[in-house]
Parts: sequence; C-alpha cells; structure tokens
Amino acid sequence: MSEPNSHTGDIVTMDKIVALCKRRGFIFPSSEIYGGVGSTYDFGHYGVLLKNNVKAEWWRAMLQERDDIVALDSAILQHPKVWEASGHLAGFTDPLVDCRTCGQRFRADHLADLQCGRKPSKHPGEADECDLTDARDFNLMFETTIGPVKESGATAYLRPETAQGIFINFKNVLQFSRKKPPFGIAHVGKSFRNEITPGNFIFRTREFEQMEMEFFVPPGEAQRWFEHWLAERERWYTELGIRPDHLRLRAHDPEELSHYSSGTSDVEYLFPIGWSELEGIANRGDFDLTQHAQHSGEKLEYFDQGSGERYVPHVIEPAAGADRATLAFLVDAYDEELVEGAGASAGDRSAAPPAEPVVGQRTVLRLHPRLAPVKAAVLPLVGKDGQPELAREVHHALRGRVQAEYDAGGSIGKRYRRQDEIGTPLCLTIDHQSIEDRTLTLRDRDSLAQERLPIEGIAEEIERRVHAPWRTPKLSSV
Ligand code: ATP
Repeated sequence: MSEPNSHTGDIVTMDKIVALCKRRGFIFPSSEIYGGVGSTYDFGHYGVLLKNNVKAEWWRAMLQERDDIVALDSAILQHPKVWEASGHLAGFTDPLVDCRTCGQRFRADHLADLQCGRKPSKHPGEADECDLTDARDFNLMFETTIGPVKESGATAYLRPETAQGIFINFKNVLQFSRKKPPFGIAHVGKSFRNEITPGNFIFRTREFEQMEMEFFVPPGEAQRWFEHWLAERERWYTELGIRPDHLRLRAHDPEELSHYSSGTSDVEYLFPIGWSELEGIANRGDFDLTQHAQHSGEKLEYFDQGSGERYVPHVIEPAAGADRATLAFLVDAYDEELVEGAGASAGDRSAAPPAEPVVGQRTVLRLHPRLAPVKAAVLPLVGKDGQPELAREVHHALRGRVQAEYDAGGSIGKRYRRQDEIGTPLCLTIDHQSIEDRTLTLRDRDSLAQERLPIEGIAEEIERRVHAPWRTPKLSSV
C-alpha cells in the first residue's frame, strides 16, 4: 500500500482524490479541451449526484427536521448598493503581491504556504531572484455590466456570498412567513470570488456553491443561539459519517474577528493539506440589517405585538461550502484495502453467491449511504439465461425509491470494484438460482458480507437500509 499522508496519517492524498474523481466521472477540470481555465471544475454524473445529496441533507437539517427556518433562492445579480451597504465594495479584499521576476501573483498573507514561481521548493520572496512588490488590496468581487452597451451600462457584481440576498429579503420573508424571532432563512446557491491563489482541487475555486443560513434572534438570546448552531453544525457532519477525530471547532482569535462579529468559530476538517475551514459560524449582531436599513431607507426590524417591543434582530450565521463539504466527505470516505477472495474466480458461473475475485487491492469510498451517488447496483452474473431480464425487472422496481444502476458490462469482480469506487453501498446480483427461486445476493460494500434475499419487497428493503443509522467502518481502524 502507499505511504500514509503526513498530515492525517491516512492513506488518502489529494492526488488520489483528484485521480479517482476524474477516473470515475465525479469531477473534471473545466474547459479541459482548451487547456483548462484556472481552478474551475465541472461536475460529472456521480459528482452531481453526490453534491446534490450533500445539499439535500443540508436542506433536510434546515427545513424538514425543524419548523423555525424557511427557504429562499435569491438572484446572483443584485443591486450594486447591496455591496456598498454590506461593506464588500470597500473591504472585501485580500492583500496581493506581484513578483516582477516570474510575473506570478500571490496572497501576501499566504506566502508561507505558497511556492515560488521559479523555485517551487522555496516560498515566494525566498529565492535570490525574487522581486516582490509591496502588498496592495485586491477586491475579490467579479465585475460585470448590466445593459447592452458596456460603456453606459451599470456596473454590477457577481455575488461573493449568498448571505446578502437573505438580508435584503428580511422584510418580504417576515411578512409572508408569519415567523417571529428566533427564526431563520436558508439559502443554497453559487457565489463567485476572484481568489488570488485558488487551489487544492475544489477546496478553493473562483466559482463555488454556498449553503448559508441567517438565524434572526432577539438580541438577548444571541449567545445561546450561537452555541446552539455550533453544536448543530458539528453534529451534521459527524452524523453523515465524518470521523469526529478529523473534525474540530476553532474559535477565531480577537484579531481575526470581523469588526461586527462578537464571536466566530470555524468548523475545521483534517484535509490532506492539514486542518482547514469547512464552515464558518458567526455571531454578526445587528450589523447587516442596520446597514441595509440605512442604505435603503427601509425599516428592517421586528415589532413584537405582544410586548410592544421594537428591535433589530441579531443574526447567527452558519455559512458552509457545498463543494468543500463534498470534498471533505470524499476524503473521509476514501479507503484502500486488500481483499481476500472467497476462492471462486470472477468467471466461475456456477459460484453461488457470486464471490469476490481471488485476492486484490480495492479502492472504496465508504460514503454514508444517504450521501452515496448510487444506492444500489443490479448486476446480472451472466448476460443470458434470463438473468439480464430479471435484473432489469429488479432495477425497475428500485428506481421508484432510490437512485439505482443496472450494470451488465465486464466480469463481476470488475463491476464490484467499479461500484466500490463510486461508493455504492449495496450490490444486488442476479444468478442462475435467482431464476429458479426469485432470490438475489445482496453484497455489502463495507463488510463484503453477502446474503440471499427474496426479490419480493427488495426495493423497500434497500430503502430501509439506506436510511438506517450508519457508522463509518474507518472508525474502528483509527
Ligand atoms: P476562506 O478563509 O477559506 O477563504 P472564508 O472565511 O472567506 O473562507 P466564508 O466567507 O465564511 O469563507 O464562506 C463560507 C464558506 O464558503 C467557507 O467556509 C467555505 O466552505 C466556502 N468557501 C468560501 N470561499 C470558497 C472558495 N473560494 N471556494 C470554495 N468554497 C469556498
């Protein structure tokens, strides 16, 4: 087996994740046939299914499992004044330095983590020939123009976060939703940042999806709700399989805090690049609503008819990245192991149940079944004797309940390996016995255990197993 990762002690490295994602159609570099465009990615079939499941689990936690949060989907293009009020126009900047020698640009506050353009073994500024400019502020917002004529059109910005779409709709939501603080507005959507140094695959890109929720509370309850959301968000990741020893909460030091924040903690994951932010949870006070009230002239406050009290709610914000979370789930699920075969070869057509190939190394994504792109694959052992027809019938029954796949191509061993690499928790194999007694073999991705089950009622059984409590088998090996 390969060398363990120096940060995590795990077998997983970012290179292995990138290679698996390309090989199995999760994620591709964007515009590849034109040589690619820096740090943008396209999601293939399994990547779409996986990221959709991540977002669906987030929505489930926000909407289905509670009754104090409502949904919103705001526009990417918003009035330019939104960004003036939010402070992004003036202050959403990173310090930038140029190297006059190699022509590359670097984030001045990340030099110690970056590589020199000419001597990748050194950091920018370390080699004799490096010639760095002084740092200057670089605004991360992408500019565009609204209107047909560039010169006379209005300058607009691609939103750098989804949160402001929530604040500017506070009044609309309050009016229709019949909610009163404490209540939240949840949002999932694309954001854009002209990052100076994107990288580490989909960890930091210029176009990404955010899952943000603004929770509006009476000012006196802010600290209690801040602590509530810290615990809730940490629980969300571990319930979906992230190993608790690879997840931590890190409170920001006072000098890291934004001027309006009275407390921010990051949920951090132990990525192959080391501990890094997955999600930020901030106590934002009344900063956002007050700013938008001042800039728009609208009253953005809550009037409590019971007590006669009028106040500007304070805001607790859990802000997560859908792509970064997807990467964390992939990294945490990645595993390699030696498989001891049950003795029968892949071509042995009389083997019942269909055995694992003799011995070999397999790569397996031990994803939580609810996150797995495909929940069950139906595999006819041979392409004749009525097996493909029966397998199609089973696949058809599954499709109404779970994302399932029919796969008849290649040896059974190769098909198992393929399903392991995309994280399919259950494989259903149809063999000659299936034709005789309408049973099939169910193979478990993690334990490799096989059991014989009746075809009758199999769709309900698969659905039940996908939603049953699950614990990553990687926990027992750490
Ligand atoms: P970082 O310090 O990593 O730049 P941030 O503190 O600026 O992140 P927030 O503004 O709090 O990030 O955004 C909330 C979440 O959105 C982050 O925790 C991350 O998951 C995601 N996110 C932010 N920027 C990017 C990016 N460039 N690419 C992918 N995801 C991102």
